[in-house]
Amino acid sequence: MKKRVLLIVCDGLGDRPVRKLEGRTPLQAATKENLDWFATQGACGLLDLISPGVCPGSDTAHLALFGYDPSQIYTGRGPFEAAGVGMEVRRGDVALRCNFATVDEERRVLDRRAGRIREGTRELAESIDGMEIDGVVTHFKEGTEHRGVLLLRGEGLDPRITDGDSHEIGGPVLEVKPLVPQAEKTAHVVNEFMSRATEALSDHPVNLTRKGQGLEPANFILPRGAGKFPSIPLVREKWGLRFAAIAGVALIRGICRSVGMEVLDVKGATGGLDTDIEAKIEAAMRALEEYHVVVVNIKAPDVAAHDRKPGLKTEVVERIDRSLGMLREGIQEDWIVAVTADHSTPCDTGDHSADPVPLLVFGDGVRRDDVVTFDEISVAVGGLGRLRGVDLMPLLIDLANRSEKFGA
Ligand code: ZN
Ligand code: ZN
Repeated sequence: MKKRVLLIVCDGLGDRPVRKLEGRTPLQAATKENLDWFATQGACGLLDLISPGVCPGSDTAHLALFGYDPSQIYTGRGPFEAAGVGMEVRRGDVALRCNFATVDEERRVLDRRAGRIREGTRELAESIDGMEIDGVVTHFKEGTEHRGVLLLRGEGLDPRITDGDSHEIGGPVLEVKPLVPQAEKTAHVVNEFMSRATEALSDHPVNLTRKGQGLEPANFILPRGAGKFPSIPLVREKWGLRFAAIAGVALIRGICRSVGMEVLDVKGATGGLDTDIEAKIEAAMRALEEYHVVVVNIKAPDVAAHDRKPGLKTEVVERIDRSLGMLREGIQEDWIVAVTADHSTPCDTGDHSADPVPLLVFGDGVRRDDVVTFDEISVAVGGLGRLRGVDLMPLLIDLANRSEKFGA
């Protein structure tokens, strides 16, 4: 029987022993009847998303989970961020991540996030969208809060340039410089864009209102992380299957869209702590009727861990677990279910780490091992052993009886 695959990625789920939790990880500390049930019925192991000791970003990790070798195709975060805010990204486009910032008359940075501006960024972005500089068309779109994306489309673009953002307060805005001679034009276009943008933004009604309210004006665009959109095969070419994704975070949505997945909108799926996990699981179960592979990203564990709140992370795990009750009840015999993470985010450091993440795979025909608890420590003795992220999708597709024979 040909089967379908549900891959649930609990963002930043992996952790380290936490003193406040008596040396347990948040996952170990959680009550999680359903995750343990799936682990008991299925096979478990550990996953190194990139390779042991390499600390993954959410973007590279997700690419690996979809079967792409990130070291081969990753060309900077900008292009994925651009796709994530809903821009159409084409091969050869160069994109940069940007901040709306506040500068003084001498272009010294007063606030890298323009007072964490939340409102009016769409109007500001529209006023600097669609310039033409040296035959290059520039597009600008706002992201969440103070973030935005600059996209360059034209001939002879090269992303090997320095950042305009020094990450320092009080210092001058940096001139963007080419790192190789081929990138001279790109650097010039970005510098020119920064100049023209600040002119347009300074007297923008949104900023005049902000000044009147005593708020920092968003009068400058700080670009960084230039990248060129890579030419990679889309998932349906690579695997011959239809993929759908459910994710609240712009970056993850962008990555999924850029590799050719259908990104489904789910009401209440926010990418924050308030996200409706049940709605996501329910939507995924429905999507399995139509798609061969459905990927769900649940960002909440990562958010709690970045905030360095192990107790909250434990609660998030328990919420995820409760939502999986619905999956457990509605499970179909032609579903292969995998639960894992895109990286560890230890609450102690509040940032990602290279610690391998737990993995469980459940479904008819999956060889059952002796693991009965789903956590970072227990799964280490599981039947799946220790895998690399890039190996997971082929493994799942094979369990779904959809792999192609290598050789005769
Ligand atoms: Zn992540
Ligand atoms: Zn993170």
